[in-house]
Amino acid sequence: MEMEIKSLQNLREIHKPMEITYEQRLQRFVDKFNEEEGDLTDYDCRKCRNKGVVAIIEDGIEKHRDCECMAIRKSLRLIKKSGLGHLLKMCTFESYDAEEPWQQQIKEKAQVFIKSKNKVFFIGGQVGAGKTHICTAIVGKFLQTSKAARYMMWRDVSTRLKAVVTTDEYSKQLDDFKRVEILYIDDLFKTEQGKFPTAADVNIAFELLNYRYNNELITIISSEKTVDEILEIDEACGSRIVQRAGEFCFNISKDTSKNMRLKGGLKK
Ligand SMILES: [Zn+2]
Repeated sequence: MEMEIKSLQNLREIHKPMEITYEQRLQRFVDKFNEEEGDLTDYDCRKCRNKGVVAIIEDGIEKHRDCECMAIRKSLRLIKKSGLGHLLKMCTFESYDAEEPWQQQIKEKAQVFIKSKNKVFFIGGQVGAGKTHICTAIVGKFLQTSKAARYMMWRDVSTRLKAVVTTDEYSKQLDDFKRVEILYIDDLFKTEQGKFPTAADVNIAFELLNYRYNNELITIISSEKTVDEILEIDEACGSRIVQRAGEFCFNISKDTSKNMRLKGGLKK
């Protein structure tokens, strides 16, 4: 008889509701929210499980914050819109045909650049030398490491900016390109029918390059012009490229003999 009472007592102990503190309950809510799967596509983020939002505890209450992946999602959207989307799939380091030694060198250097402290990768010169391919491969790698990037097709964007130069839109539109973590400027100073860039072109380039120089932001630049030609167009723009690129400044000579010349940007 005594035994039975005892076991009944044990049973009650086991079924006694567990007491948890307010903090523990809060933590459970936050964990439960963070474990739920969301339905955002394009990029798989394990931090927010594709909800775009993460729950945190701050000052004893549950708060919701935008996840870091939102910046990446935004850059992917913009890149898709800009037309670089399909290029990103095609133009990778793996698909870059490095037949010539100089191509092999550029490919190796581009891969080193991603891990280096240098802020500018410049490749200028001969048309059709795979400049866009190598620059796009760099952008793709940065996107994989959760960096936000934007693509700027120089001629299109500069034409658009020049059309709004006297309005508030100008600085608003330019700001996006100035401040983004990674900027890829494709075909810098390309003009219609090979005309010499105007003062307005140079102004845009300087505003961009100077801001990114001062804030040590990563800029990838391709151009049909060599860095010497850019220095001739505007020394302030050219010198900022040369300084921040250091050993990552490549100029492919324009002679058709395919005797490609590589030169580090050490010109002072
Ligand atoms: Zn996320």
